[in-house]
Amino acid sequence: MPDYTAELETLRQQGLLRERRVLDSAQGPEIVVDGRRMLAFCSNDYLGLASHPGVIEALTDAAREQGVGSGSSHMVSGHHRLHQELEEALAEHTGREAAALFSTGYMANLGVTAAMAGRHDVILQDRLNHASLLDGARLAGARLKRYTHADTGAAARLLEAESRCTLVATDGVFSMDGDLAPLDGLSALCREQGVPLMVDDAHGIGVLGSKGGGIAEVRGLDQSAVPILVGTLGKALGVGGAFVAGSQEFVDYLVQKARTYIYTTAMPPAMAAATRRSLELCREEGWRRERLAKLVAWFRDEATALGYRLMESWTPIQPLIVGPSDRAMALSEALARRDILVPAIRPPTVPQGEARLRLTFSASHTDEHMERLLEALRAARSETGAA
Ligand code: PMP
Repeated sequence: MPDYTAELETLRQQGLLRERRVLDSAQGPEIVVDGRRMLAFCSNDYLGLASHPGVIEALTDAAREQGVGSGSSHMVSGHHRLHQELEEALAEHTGREAAALFSTGYMANLGVTAAMAGRHDVILQDRLNHASLLDGARLAGARLKRYTHADTGAAARLLEAESRCTLVATDGVFSMDGDLAPLDGLSALCREQGVPLMVDDAHGIGVLGSKGGGIAEVRGLDQSAVPILVGTLGKALGVGGAFVAGSQEFVDYLVQKARTYIYTTAMPPAMAAATRRSLELCREEGWRRERLAKLVAWFRDEATALGYRLMESWTPIQPLIVGPSDRAMALSEALARRDILVPAIRPPTVPQGEARLRLTFSASHTDEHMERLLEALRAARSETGAA
């Protein structure tokens, strides 16, 4: 049994203890945390749909008519027409033949990777992939090989030397850096080597592309180029859950083989109804993506002028690299004193020496919110010397 006290004390001393805050408001730019009203730049509600009246109405109407719990797994009696309709809408949205719903993105990634590889297989992944993809390889019992971040050449060298590789997996938008995967190169490589490419576009769906189809829409990569596409529903779409899209045959296979699909209760059907509504809003209201792009450009210009170190990201994920964990904490605390919430992200979530503030933007941030943020960053920089 672990020594809880000692383990917790070690984390505290290393400055790595993660703390939870209690939220007493709906998601949005202004939230109430631990009893305090704050301006948040840390949620993944990129399009501002998590508290949209139309989405709330879809959820409550469906709950009133269809109840709340789904009652069982998809394979027993939990697969509701509302799930079916959302799966079809997501397939259409991503230009794939079919899609299957999962309760979370974490489970979707575990389910797919473990269904695609066994103990004697190899899975190739970007070094900075989300934890759920790395954990999926562990669950599969497969050998995990990781290539240098976003380096197609490195991926090619590993793949060419490997005859047992059954899956190449990458994030579409990297969750801690905000940069994009080199999908053109990776899809060409995978096609050449006859290995399926899996893209986890958790942060791209809804955000990238004229209709929010994600990185595959932007790059014009169809089902044959990216045969396994994962998207989450709790970020830009503002609800919760995830989907995996691909050919009908692949999705049929997944429904039979993905243990995280089979052995778990289906998401409440009302959540599927809410997500359908948010998907419509996502497609119809392109101004949300335009607003995001404007905020990102504005932030980058101003933060650079203030002397902060940014990353090569044009997505709503904008990290400010600080370095040591204690300096990232000091900067986060300096912002918190000004009622601005941007948690510090520290190792092991990011590499040693790359602690950062991970800012995220939402279409619902106003100009005034942005001005408050930039003013606070200016003051915090002179106070802490961070940048
Ligand atoms: N993939 C990526 C790239 C993510 O950032 C996340 C969430 N942080 C997930 C998967 C997991 O999604 P969910 O929160 O729906 O479990």
